[in-house]
Amino acid sequence: MFAKEIKKISKEIQNKLIEIRRKIHQNPELAFEEYNTGKLILNYLKQLDIEVTPEVAKTGVVGLIRGNQPGKTVAIRADMDALPITEENNCDYKSTIPGKMHACGHDAHVACLLGAAEILNRLKDKLKGNIKLIFQPAEEGVGGALPMIEEGVLDNPKVNACIATHVWSDIPVGQILVKRGPIMASPDDFEIVIKGKGGHGAMPHTATDPIVIGCQVVNVLQTVISRKIDPLSPAVISICYFHSGTCTNVIPDTAVIKGTARTLDPELRKRVANLIETTVAGIVTTMGGEYEFKYHYLYPPTINDNTITDILANAAVKIIGSNNLIWGNEPSMGGEDFAYFAEKVPSTFFRLGCGNQKKGIIYPIHNSKFDIDEECLSIGAAVLSQFSIDYLNT
Ligand SMILES: [Zn+2]
Ligand SMILES: [Zn+2]
Repeated sequence: MFAKEIKKISKEIQNKLIEIRRKIHQNPELAFEEYNTGKLILNYLKQLDIEVTPEVAKTGVVGLIRGNQPGKTVAIRADMDALPITEENNCDYKSTIPGKMHACGHDAHVACLLGAAEILNRLKDKLKGNIKLIFQPAEEGVGGALPMIEEGVLDNPKVNACIATHVWSDIPVGQILVKRGPIMASPDDFEIVIKGKGGHGAMPHTATDPIVIGCQVVNVLQTVISRKIDPLSPAVISICYFHSGTCTNVIPDTAVIKGTARTLDPELRKRVANLIETTVAGIVTTMGGEYEFKYHYLYPPTINDNTITDILANAAVKIIGSNNLIWGNEPSMGGEDFAYFAEKVPSTFFRLGCGNQKKGIIYPIHNSKFDIDEECLSIGAAVLSQFSIDYLNT
């Protein structure tokens, strides 16, 4: 149902979506500073006569399309924030702000969702149920999903299912990847301060060397994943920071170690956090030091609902054909705060192909040369629209 109309409208609005994406790309705004992006979204939705609520979780915007007949409510979420990176592409729509760039493609997500808004709004007289359009601030680092949920974005009307997409340059434009179950990890981090006793480098026996203790900690933490965790359950511990000392002949007082711990399972997540702390405690105390340990639970793992994912797969085939649908086997160990939506309501998160080898669009997200093949914008808009209609009709 509707696939023909959806494809037709998505082609009609393609150039408009490219224009929007470029405008946002040229004017990137970091987490919780998306004022102009929010304004652009607000104006676009108002022009379409869509009900809209601004300033949700500071800079977020929420639109609501009510169908002709009552029914369920489906939400589509797009994130809006850029990254603190200086763009190294040479294109006419290059970022105009040094040190800020849409290197994670959230400009494309906004354009796709505005496209879906336009498509679904044109079809609303034939729709049963509602579509909520969630433009979320601050996906990178701080997280805007949770504050939006706390401000009630999933209520009034109550949202029954949620969907979001992320552009992915490893996947050629025209294709999408869907996956049941876990798709993104919990990107937690931790900090260990090892407290020894400083002294002269010539007299180590009078000191407690925090660097030597820290080296043991780093080494033994490598065995947590390899010896304590089921090899069939993905988990990562990476130490990415080890700072201590000031010169060549002074044993310092402290060493600071920081890292990231990632899992795809809520239970395993708690276990890994505990294993890190008990490992640190055992080594540091045995070697005569003391420690402080902080573990920060950031976003949960993003876990796709199987039924909702199957509805998406069937909907996507109507738009891109079965040859262009990829069933993913492996999740990514990256994080994504759409996870909070997926914790609350049955949801699915899919990857939208935006790569194009021939055009040199090959750089990954968070790279200063990241770009997208803009053909993906109308495809994203169409798939999100078809999914929403199909879900409301289940
Ligand atoms: Zn990112
Ligand atoms: Zn992103």
